[in-house]
Amino acid sequence: MRIALVDPSSTTRLIVTRMLTARGHEVVAHADEREALRQIKHDLRIDALITSAELTHMSGIELCWEARLLATCKRPIYVLMMSSQYDQRSLVEALDSGADDFIGKPPLAEELYARLRAAERMASMQRELIRMATTDPLTGLSNRRGFFEQAVEARARTIPDGNLSAILLDIDNFKYINDSYGHEAGDEAIRACAHAARLDEAITGRLGGDEFALLLERRSLPEAIKIGEDLRRRLASRPFDTGRGRITLTWSVGVGAAEPGDSLDQLLARADAALYSAKAGGRNRVSGAPPALATMTTIAQHGVARASVC
Ligand code: GH3
Ligand code: MG
Repeated sequence: MRIALVDPSSTTRLIVTRMLTARGHEVVAHADEREALRQIKHDLRIDALITSAELTHMSGIELCWEARLLATCKRPIYVLMMSSQYDQRSLVEALDSGADDFIGKPPLAEELYARLRAAERMASMQRELIRMATTDPLTGLSNRRGFFEQAVEARARTIPDGNLSAILLDIDNFKYINDSYGHEAGDEAIRACAHAARLDEAITGRLGGDEFALLLERRSLPEAIKIGEDLRRRLASRPFDTGRGRITLTWSVGVGAAEPGDSLDQLLARADAALYSAKAGGRNRVSGAPPALATMTTIAQHGVARASVC
């Protein structure tokens, strides 16, 4: 684990650091708890805090609370409080203040190791739960929830007039594949499409059924349309083996770009409207930027017209 250690005594810091590094943990030791807090805030690799109950500028209890506020379900922080006062009252107070565990000071090496092993077990279980909750088991892509979690973060870090585009892909006549070749072949087809949708530079997810989404940071509408066209060609040029002969899979592609002030939902609604128009236009095609109702005038004024490729 990467551990922030806080104790005003240099001797305690030295003893505990030695114990921890002997077991392969990385330790960043602090005499000043305010400095430690700053580090936990900015260094997202810190996954544990070991603090003395007795500090200089605030109490160990307060530090526990502050560290707890920095932890999220995506970034668990294990908090262990050390105290020379090892009694039931101090233990209850520490746990009630956001500490995960309590240990005497100086800690006994084997006890410290055992507590950290338990913390690692919890952390790896939490990571696995998060992975399961955000991954589509059929394709290994992010599921709807995983996609939106990443997309919300991407939207937040895009400057108001920065480029952000979305591509929606929906397999054409997919029911026909299920009906003609069976559900298992249908599943294989979804996997093949997921493979074709993978793009290093994009946040990619399976939104559900036969629909996929890509979010492209720093990409304008024309650039995203070009990427959409590449994706369309990529799928259509890879014959798919149904087990009873090869067929060509195609998908329709809707592309939208965020207008200044657009929320993520508005951006995706744009791409969805474009997808609808690609389906209506005959499928296996890319359609870009049909204006959302609210912005239709703006787009008409700026001459951004519906673009159809293919
Ligand atoms: P369109 O070109 O208009 O998109 O027609 P379509 O037949 O593809 O229609 P639609 O997108 O509505 O069909 C999606 C189908 O995908 C409906 C559902 O039975 C099937 N489906 C959804 N999830 C799965 C899955 O995990 N595996 C399989 N095999 N089929 C699925
Ligand atoms: Mg479909």
